[in-house]
Amino acid sequence: MTNNAFAATVLTLYPEMFPGPIGLSLAGSALKSGLWSLKTLDIRDYATDKHRSVDDSPSGGGAGMVLRPDVVGLSIQAVLAKASSLPFLVMTPRGKPLTQSRVKALAAGSGVNILCGRFEGFDERLFEHYPLEPVSVGDYVLSGGEPAALVLLDAIVRLLPGVMGKSASAEDESFEGYLLEYPHYTRPREWEGRMIPEILHSGDHAKIAAWRQQKAEEHTRLWRPDLWEHYLASKIRKSPSGTQ
Ligand code: SAM
Repeated sequence: MTNNAFAATVLTLYPEMFPGPIGLSLAGSALKSGLWSLKTLDIRDYATDKHRSVDDSPSGGGAGMVLRPDVVGLSIQAVLAKASSLPFLVMTPRGKPLTQSRVKALAAGSGVNILCGRFEGFDERLFEHYPLEPVSVGDYVLSGGEPAALVLLDAIVRLLPGVMGKSASAEDESFEGYLLEYPHYTRPREWEGRMIPEILHSGDHAKIAAWRQQKAEEHTRLWRPDLWEHYLASKIRKSPSGTQ
């Protein structure tokens, strides 16, 4: 591992789920070559009773079980004792939605600590007591934080220096400047009676760039009206008569 490799630590009840899919392909090669490191911490190792319990029934009644603050707290403290300056993210559907700009900021840092939940989630006092950043990977409910942590790590790792090949670039991708990416095509030129748009064979780079911009705008307006609003607002800000 290189000295300044990005260091990820995951607190989980299922350490065997890691590295899982991010041990393969781009992220996996980068892990093997030491561009980033991954440590897991089993929350159950911090249980204090003979049954190694990590959860208890919800105060006030209701379905399911809640992760205990004392046990999870000890696991958090163990991580803070070693890597206290790193961002400490908690995977929860009640968190702030993950964005590409947050991913970029994390990838520019030296590492991340990630806490994964299970059952009904965490005792709320953990969020009050520790400097945790609640993060959601989308408006749906997973059965555990581990798949969410894998999503987060995959998004971070591909942006680390040296992970993507020289030919691949993150600059043109979806969410840059509030737009989704333009559509891609490759050979064969005709498939199932459908042709690659003629302009892409024109060799006119300016025209191709303008076409791609137009397609990116159309697609964003249609599929992501929320992003489209941001895009329009950013255009106004950038225009000479804009307010900024
Ligand atoms: N009772 C919780 C609620 O309704 O908000 C859902 C708990 S979920 C079944 C169990 C765990 O999965 C959560 O503690 C969290 O770690 C993880 N999880 C589920 N959905 C998630 C999402 N959209 N983003 C991030 N983590 C999620």
